[in-house]
Amino acid sequence: MFQLSHEPLIPWPVASDSAGGFVTFEGKVRNHANLRQVLRLEYEAYDDLAISEGEKLVAEAVERYRLESATVVHRVGLLEVGETAVIIQTAAAHRREAFAGCEWILDQLKHRVPIWKKEYYADGDSGWVGADAPGPNPELEAQLTQRQRRLAEIGDDGQVRLKAARVLVVGTGGLAAGCLPYLAAAGVGQLGLIDDDLVDLSNLHRQILFTVEDVGRLKVERAAQFVNRLNPTVEVHRHAERLTEVNADRFVASYDWIVDGSDNLPTKFLLNEACRRHGKPLVTASVHGFEGQLLTVQPDGPCLRCLFPTAPASRCVGTCAENGILGVVPGILGMLQANEVLKGILGYGELLSHRTLLLDLRSGETMSLSRTANPGCPVCGGGTDISDPCEVASMSEAHARLGVFIVVDVREPDEEPTISCDHVRLPFSTLDDLPEGNLVVVCETGTRSLRVAARCLAGGRTNVVSLRGGVASLAEYEPR
Ligand SMILES: [Zn+2]
Repeated sequence: MFQLSHEPLIPWPVASDSAGGFVTFEGKVRNHANLRQVLRLEYEAYDDLAISEGEKLVAEAVERYRLESATVVHRVGLLEVGETAVIIQTAAAHRREAFAGCEWILDQLKHRVPIWKKEYYADGDSGWVGADAPGPNPELEAQLTQRQRRLAEIGDDGQVRLKAARVLVVGTGGLAAGCLPYLAAAGVGQLGLIDDDLVDLSNLHRQILFTVEDVGRLKVERAAQFVNRLNPTVEVHRHAERLTEVNADRFVASYDWIVDGSDNLPTKFLLNEACRRHGKPLVTASVHGFEGQLLTVQPDGPCLRCLFPTAPASRCVGTCAENGILGVVPGILGMLQANEVLKGILGYGELLSHRTLLLDLRSGETMSLSRTANPGCPVCGGGTDISDPCEVASMSEAHARLGVFIVVDVREPDEEPTISCDHVRLPFSTLDDLPEGNLVVVCETGTRSLRVAARCLAGGRTNVVSLRGGVASLAEYEPR
């Protein structure tokens, strides 16, 4: 018998005339772990799955050690130091079997039963522990993947390739919500997740890995938990950071396939370049309103910059926050990204490496445009990078180009954080006239501001520039 309990555990008396040995094990919360002071623990489980895996484990122990009975009760929820986390009771004809059976259950429990443990430390920090690699479970894996292994294109060999694969998903938003579940369910061995963002209510219509209860928590943590509940044999690496020029190479080099689940062009270009440097394939998708596009960049094929040689200005695609998006659009595109990765790992079908797939989800129409390498591409060809005339990479570049200027923040009134230097706030949605003089326009990511600057340039005004990277690029700015 295997049970989960939300109430404090109290050992119960056991009796059986035919058993000679009874063992009761009590696991308690202690006040330290890995040299850190622990204040309390939290156990979280997906009840149905934990109970069914737990029952199987207990039945196996009974058979293996010829036990008369075995009972496991595991606490879930918040536990204070000194409280009992688990009770295991075994009864057998002889003491040896009762001891061995109890110990075996204890050892197997943490690997086979999906119950996640979070430690709260005295220094205010907290973290999920031991949840990333729940350990091998060939039987569970075999059952999870049996239907796909029947396909000639996959088979047992393909399953081994999936298990050996390492896939990095950059961003855990709407595209990842479509992509991650299928990569995990297919049995991809290792998944890396990068995102420094927290779950927000306004995300949930498209980021269906999360629930209302997750609001305010780290996306990578909740996404990792989703993956491990779906397939506890996947090893998940959580990277609660933002992809930058500094860390991109390190991440890209550590994985076999890269999925771009970001919603902004600078990240897409950064990934395109890092993947090219390390010879890694990149599956990238963009969504806009009801439309999406998908393509795969192979190390020896045309790259993303072959399509967009002069970068964002004229084609600036806003982020979901700025433009609005219907949830199914990134969901469908994300699934198609998973499909590209699976094709690539397993080697069947044809990748979108020389085509771009365009989908209009209002009409259901799809279009496939062929792509070829551009000899003048600044990344994979012989071209040089043409920087945008209405964009600056930093505030020092703005000073060098404009001298004295006014900072104009075009974010909406509810967008945070407020910036500390002198500035004018003119929300993008109601933006009409801009002040006279030299202007540096900023927004959240540098997309809306680039549109403002591009519009000015198109109207002949050359003294307005957008700050690349948005308010984050203002962080260390101290006005002279
Ligand atoms: Zn290229």
